Amino acid sequence: MNNKLYGKLIIELSHPGRKGYSLPHSEYEGYTPADLPANLLRGKAPELPECDEPTVVRHYTNHSANNFGVNNGFYPLGSCTMKYNPVINEEVAAMQQFAGLHPLQPAETCQGALRIYHELQSMLAAITGLSQFTLNPCAGAHGELTGLMVIRAYHQSRGDDRRTKVLIPDSAHGTNPASAAVCGLEVVEVKSQADGTVDVDDLKSKLDEGVACMMMTNPNTLGLFEHNIPEIQTLVHQCGGLMYYDGANLNPMLGVCRPGDMGFDVMHINLHKTFSTPHGGGGPGSGPVGVRAGLEPFLPTPRVVKDADGTFSVKTGRYEQSLGSIGQFFGNYAVVLRAYAYILTMGRENLGLVGPLATLNANYIKEQLRDDYLLPIDSPCMHEFVFDGLRDKSQGVTTMDVAKRLLDYGYHAPTIYFPLLFHESLMIEPTENESKETIDGFIEVMHSIAREAQTNPDEVKGAPHSTPIGRVDDVLAAKNPVLTWKHTQA
Ligand SMILES: *Cc1c(COP(=O)(O)O)cnc(C)c1O
Repeated sequence: MNNKLYGKLIIELSHPGRKGYSLPHSEYEGYTPADLPANLLRGKAPELPECDEPTVVRHYTNHSANNFGVNNGFYPLGSCTMKYNPVINEEVAAMQQFAGLHPLQPAETCQGALRIYHELQSMLAAITGLSQFTLNPCAGAHGELTGLMVIRAYHQSRGDDRRTKVLIPDSAHGTNPASAAVCGLEVVEVKSQADGTVDVDDLKSKLDEGVACMMMTNPNTLGLFEHNIPEIQTLVHQCGGLMYYDGANLNPMLGVCRPGDMGFDVMHINLHKTFSTPHGGGGPGSGPVGVRAGLEPFLPTPRVVKDADGTFSVKTGRYEQSLGSIGQFFGNYAVVLRAYAYILTMGRENLGLVGPLATLNANYIKEQLRDDYLLPIDSPCMHEFVFDGLRDKSQGVTTMDVAKRLLDYGYHAPTIYFPLLFHESLMIEPTENESKETIDGFIEVMHSIAREAQTNPDEVKGAPHSTPIGRVDDVLAAKNPVLTWKHTQA
């Protein structure tokens, strides 16, 4: 793109007096600033960009073309599950009948919307083997906080105020300890053993009557099934604690097993990962929380319930033991709609294939690439797995270099430098919906990069070469991002 308008800010393309819109006559025409209270008037007109329509359209179209998304190519981002997002989901979410709803409108005017909300709660309960779900939390981390608040409310309801410790494996996603801390609970780390799963002996040494719960991610962030769950859940329950399941990435479990059957009491699901919704950079998300029978009274309000006459209503009133409201209204309804459309489109039968296919795809890539990339934990994985960089690091090519070079070949990078258990983590998740051709294409490119790392290491270290912006200083970009245009007074 050699156009000299390209790369500029919209404000830099502005020419005073130029217009790109034509508005209908306003019913407020004729009102003058004099009709408004003086204290609400600004002293000077706002400095907004003034551009013609083609300039605006091209500006934003060109920007959007710089972004790599799931609709551009393969997106093997481990632990974040960016999968196929069926277009029908977007159509459903954009339907005016849903998009135009007001959260405060009377229940009798939005029975259909409430029914979907209620049915999704029931579907998630059936999928996970738990009793009841709330769809109110707006992200995975928000779900974790809600779930921990449920657990705390449960202990307090029994007059047990001593339980303030949350046991969290060292392989956990960073949001787990963060949510526990935000909830005012104390984080106690549990070690992993050499095979990447929870070290049960270390766990035993940390069990006492101060334990509120154990948070487990399964498959864990190394993509491994925590095979000691039966023993772990028995130990934790025996000491009076509850079991929390981080189900952000539930893909590999779909159709295979259910957290409720494994002995978990509380869990969250990331609808925006497992049940599709394009997301990134902070949203949009939805982190429903499910509980086993007996813990329902502690769930947040408002609640959507089905009344005896078959109609749906919103209960905001006082539930004695509820932890109260954890956000605005009902959470992120557009994400709820997408998950609902996704589940119905898939159907029971196909939903049961998600887990096995996600697992097959990940293992296939792992086995094809293990001669070139270092596999620190050599066991069958679930939906994702971790390499510890290139097997041959003699030319100094790092995981960062490999990730950047992938962009030149038209692939999004995997998750890198997470989990923290290894120095050169490269975490790959293909998801269940990719074709064999797509996956083979990725494998071929990963082989090419490994070869280049030997024969032409500088090419890899200098990548990307084909993107509008090359390497950024990512520390500076994270610590000192420039995200807004600052008006400088002439
Ligand atoms: C993504 C993720 C979370 C956090 O979810 P957000 O929606 O980003 O808050 C928590 N745990 C695991 C294992 C995850 O992959």
